[in-house]
Formats: sequence, C-alpha cells, structure tokens
Amino acid sequence: MASFRELLKQTKSAIREVDTATAAELIEQPGTVVLDVREPDEYEQGAIPGAVHIARGNLESNIEARVPDHDARIVVHCAGGTRSAFAAKSLGELGYTDVVSMAGGFNKWKDEQRPWATPRTLSAEQRNRYHRHLLLPEVGEAGQQKLLDAKVLLLGAGGLGSPAALYLAAAGVGTLGIIDMDEVDASNLQRQILHNVDRVGERKVDSAKKTLTALNPDVNVVTYDVRLGADNILNIIDGYDVIVDGTDNFPTRYLVNDASLLKRIPVVHGSIFRFEGQATVFAPYEGPCYRCMIPEPPPAELAPSCAEAGVLGVLPGIIGSIQAMEAIKLVLGLGDPLIGRLLAYDAEEESFRSFKVNRDPECPACGPNAGEIVIAEYDELCMPHGAH
Ligand SMILES: [Zn+2]
Repeated sequence: MASFRELLKQTKSAIREVDTATAAELIEQPGTVVLDVREPDEYEQGAIPGAVHIARGNLESNIEARVPDHDARIVVHCAGGTRSAFAAKSLGELGYTDVVSMAGGFNKWKDEQRPWATPRTLSAEQRNRYHRHLLLPEVGEAGQQKLLDAKVLLLGAGGLGSPAALYLAAAGVGTLGIIDMDEVDASNLQRQILHNVDRVGERKVDSAKKTLTALNPDVNVVTYDVRLGADNILNIIDGYDVIVDGTDNFPTRYLVNDASLLKRIPVVHGSIFRFEGQATVFAPYEGPCYRCMIPEPPPAELAPSCAEAGVLGVLPGIIGSIQAMEAIKLVLGLGDPLIGRLLAYDAEEESFRSFKVNRDPECPACGPNAGEIVIAEYDELCMPHGAH
C-alpha cells in the first residue's frame, strides 16, 4: 500500500504542473478556465478573479456542468498545490485534455502579489433560501448571483404577470420591474394571484409590490403605474435583461416587439384564450420576432381582449409559469429556450404541442431589408412605421 507521500509523488508524475508565473501567463490567454478546488471558506476569503470554484469533494460530480468543454485549457489550483494535483489527475481521467496544476497554489500566488479579490458570495440566509438552486450544478452559487443581478420587466400584473412575478421573485431575480395602470378589481382574483381581497381598489403595481416583497425581500420591485406607449417604452425597458410580456392586445405587442428589437432585449411572450395558451421567446435578430410570427393582427371581431373573453383561471398560471421558466433560462444561459418554437397548451386535451416558427426574410421589423424602426403609436393594423 502506498503512503501519502508516495501517492502524491505518483500523482504529480502523472500530471502537468506549472509554477505561478507560467500559470499567470496561461490565465492571460482567452478561454483559459481557472479552477479553484479549495473549500468554500478558503475561497470566500480571497480568490483569483473569474475563477470557477468547485470544492475538491464536489469536483467529479460538478465539473461537467460547469466546464462542459473537455478540451478547455484548465489551470487548477488549491491553497498549496496538493489537492490540485489530485484534482488534475481526476480531470484527466474524466477526459479533460489540457489541465495543469499550479504549484504553490493560491498562497504562493497571493504572496507574489498577483491579482486576487474577495469574491461576492451569498449570505447565510441566501444560501438557505436558495439551497435547492445551489444543489443544481447548472445553477449553483454563480447562477444564483446571476439571478440576483438580473433585471426582468413584467408587462402587466394580471393573469400572466401574477404567476410569472411570483416565481421570478421566489427564484431571487434581483430587480423586477412591473408596469400596469389598472387597479385591483374583485373579478381579477379568479386568476391574478398577486392580489387579494384586501387590495381591491388599490393600484395593481402597489399590490404586486407588497406581495412580492413579502415573499422575498432580496427583490427590488420597481413599479410603473403608467400606460405603456410610444412616448415612454424605450425609457422604461432600457437596462432590463429580459421582458416578460403578459399584455393582451395587439397594438401593445407590436409596440413591445419593435422597441425590444431596437434595444435588443429578448421578450418572453405568453398569451391565453379560453382553455388554450401559448408561449414563445423572441430573441432579437437571433430568432423570429412577433411580426415574423404574426405579420398582421386579426380583425378586431376575431381578437377579443381578455376582458371580454372567458378564461379558466388556472390557465394563465400555467402559461405565466412557463414564461418565468424561460426568463430564468435566458438569465442563466440554461437549456434550450423557446426561441423559434411556439409551445401551445390545450387544457381540455391536457396536451402540449410545439411548433417551429421561422424568421421571415420579408419581416418589416427584423428582416434584412427592414427600414429603420420608428417607435410610434399603432393604428388598428399595427403595421410598423417606415423611416421618415
Ligand atoms: Zn421579424
């Protein structure tokens, strides 16, 4: 049986080890992954900026989610160079082809006054609150920080906006903007679960803010008690990472589409009618836009607004939750978002169907020959205004 010394010697002979100066040169090169395998309390006191942190004990189970490219150049380090030597050997066994271990580790790096910083970490309360996210290697602490840094704008605090806002707030999306110009009516409560009987007559944005802040005080709720129009939309959406569109009328959807193309902000679209709902993601110039999918609104008599049409109250709960899921995926860069796909739900059949939606090369808003987008109020045809 090998002693620890012998095992370490064998391990070091099986891996590539570099000194801190060589490691620093490698780290300068674009694409290099710095992998810190120390324990969380060591990492929290100081780390190489941009390092991926996976404690040695979780390395094998988490590395493929955090560093999917097996040919990525990886500089692995611990505090002194021993744990990283064993980590480098494991990475080689997992098929990682370009791994070096930094001799001397972070302690030598710091002694040589190379760059390091105290990483942003979650508080103990946040670690507890988001525990089930942290257990997912695809989210983890870095993903949770992304959510806390994210800004998502909800258009409407109604049927779709309610479940979307609740789940986004619960997930720890740090800034939630909500635009709505209505007040809470008792007839909303059948589906708009942000509100309750005590809030009837209150402004919807104020009611939403109370509910969301009570659910998660980490969330900064920014309210816009205005009508979304050509005069204010660019200012309102500016700076948001994702827009969740829960509006129920064509002129607003076209307005949102054109403004989001100009600002290059993805829109998570949702709509409901009676027992059916649909959701998709419009990623500006990457996938189709709303005008690619619906070039012209249907005649008014065929497009009743939500206020006029009946809807089963659970339905917006399902579609709004899908919108929240897609918004979170966009923030985290996770999975396959509904870009170029329309997900259609039928509550009576209890079925989901997915349809491909292509970019329209003739699209007047996002096509290659589209004119300059002018943000203006829309007439009933909702056609984009050409360049003036
Ligand atoms: Zn388009």
